[in-house]
Amino acid sequence: MIVLNLLCDHGHRFEGWFASGDAFREQSERHLVHCPQCQTSGVSQLPSAPHVKRGATDVALPEKPAAPAAAPAMAALHQALASMARQAENVGERFPEEARRIHYDEVPARTIRGIATADETRDLLEEGILVLPAPIPPDDEIH
Ligand SMILES: [Zn+2]
Repeated sequence: MIVLNLLCDHGHRFEGWFASGDAFREQSERHLVHCPQCQTSGVSQLPSAPHVKRGATDVALPEKPAAPAAAPAMAALHQALASMARQAENVGERFPEEARRIHYDEVPARTIRGIATADETRDLLEEGILVLPAPIPPDDEIH
């Protein structure tokens, strides 16, 4: 069901419930839609008010942005990590070794991802090598 804002020939505004926009047009053509105040069947559809109003509200209240909810922020972070992981070279179990070689300039710097145990991750961090434990996206997400 949808709610349409309607206007009759005499300027009365009212709401009508219809299965769809097509259902309104069909019923209107058959003069089945009547104004509740004057009973005329000369009824037309107004532009969807809720949609227009929502956009105007966003523009009118820029000084009061909604506080960002934690969940979307976490989702954005997760997406960023997943995006980094997709672009990163997968070195698998050689991750701790490759991370060290990059850190000590033995190989060109690049973003890598791979597998490290908790101990290996701690050792890397103690050596000042920035590693970020992150969920590894399934292989079918990586192109
Ligand atoms: Zn009317």
